[in-house]
Amino acid sequence: MSTTVTDKLLEIALQIREPWKITDVQFSPDTTGRLDIYIDFDKGAIFDCPVCSGPATAYDTNMMTWRHRDFFEYEAYFHARVPRVKCRDGACGVKKIGVPWARSSSGLTLKMEKLMMSLVREMPVNAVSRIYSITDTRLWRMVHFYTDKARSMEDYSEVVRIGFDETSAKKGHNDYISLFYDLDKFRLIFGTKGKDNKTVEAFAADLKAHGGDPLKITDAAIDMSKAFIKGAKEQLPNANITFDKFHVTKGMNDTMKKVRHQEAMEYPEKLAKTKFLFLKNPEDLNDDQMARLDAAVKGHCHKSIETYTHKLNLQNIYLSDGREMAEGLMSHWLKATSESAILQVRKFSKTVNDHLDGIMNYFDSGLTSGFIEGLNSIIQSAKAKARGYRNPDNMICIAYLIAGKLDFTKLFALPT
Ligand SMILES: [Zn+2]
Repeated sequence: MSTTVTDKLLEIALQIREPWKITDVQFSPDTTGRLDIYIDFDKGAIFDCPVCSGPATAYDTNMMTWRHRDFFEYEAYFHARVPRVKCRDGACGVKKIGVPWARSSSGLTLKMEKLMMSLVREMPVNAVSRIYSITDTRLWRMVHFYTDKARSMEDYSEVVRIGFDETSAKKGHNDYISLFYDLDKFRLIFGTKGKDNKTVEAFAADLKAHGGDPLKITDAAIDMSKAFIKGAKEQLPNANITFDKFHVTKGMNDTMKKVRHQEAMEYPEKLAKTKFLFLKNPEDLNDDQMARLDAAVKGHCHKSIETYTHKLNLQNIYLSDGREMAEGLMSHWLKATSESAILQVRKFSKTVNDHLDGIMNYFDSGLTSGFIEGLNSIIQSAKAKARGYRNPDNMICIAYLIAGKLDFTKLFALPT
């Protein structure tokens, strides 16, 4: 079906330009189910020398194939002999040149890669791999390439308030990644393996590589892990550390769960299936749930009820009007909890007391990494949809795609 009109039309549609031209098109819907487009150049065609940009001619060629975007339901391929060129005086030696429709060493055209990149932001890489019959190893290589490239162009010189947190990379493995966010622009700026203080060191180095300055970081919202505190103090010496409301609340809820669980073993008839009642606030319970909570109270489940009271009182501190009021309420709370007969409550009380400065900083900085938890759960659900990632690097890469607000548009601009 090779006609000049079709070739010309395709050259325009596919942006094939001099010295390249389409020399043959084979469409075989009944046999191979493929569209094959052959691209070539005339004898004596002039290319740009990749070294000096001077005019160069083909020295020898190597036949290559690229997968392009499907033509309706048919797979489409480009074929071309790619030359090594020699410029006129031969000064630059024999050099391999790139083709305008694909990046070197990729078996996909740029337009196909652009499509793949938009798909992997919406669905798991292994799903895209299945739909297009492209190996996921090849897709992952491409996803890493573009993500790294897009990240390399990011400017972090304005970053001053950050939050970081760890999230699990694999279920059932002690395998974590740490994610660092710009709290003013709500974007992921760095991800790395592990959850120790070295992760903060790696973040500081990466920040510098993107024009940022660890000394300019004024605030850091983190959880109460010793490793993160150590890392933040060492690497971000001018940052006020805020222990987020979210993490304090979570610590309290974990304490609640443990106390209720222990007491439920003593009073199974009163406390069976009450776990979520104790984690919720009274105003969020319906009549039936409220009645069951009341029954637990009347059943003399003292420990659960006492812990529940501490939980509500702690939450109320966060409704305070300013730091002063919060400090007053907090000192009452600390007194009550430190004198509690319940070991778990005393333990958590000590944790809060040990981190009091950072916890109270919340009332000045208002810094919250709540949105980080939101993003982490989106990243976790992407992981679940993908049925896990083979390695943490892939998970970090997907986290950048989901939460990095990276600009991919420039990367796919075809050369003019
Ligand atoms: Zn040259």
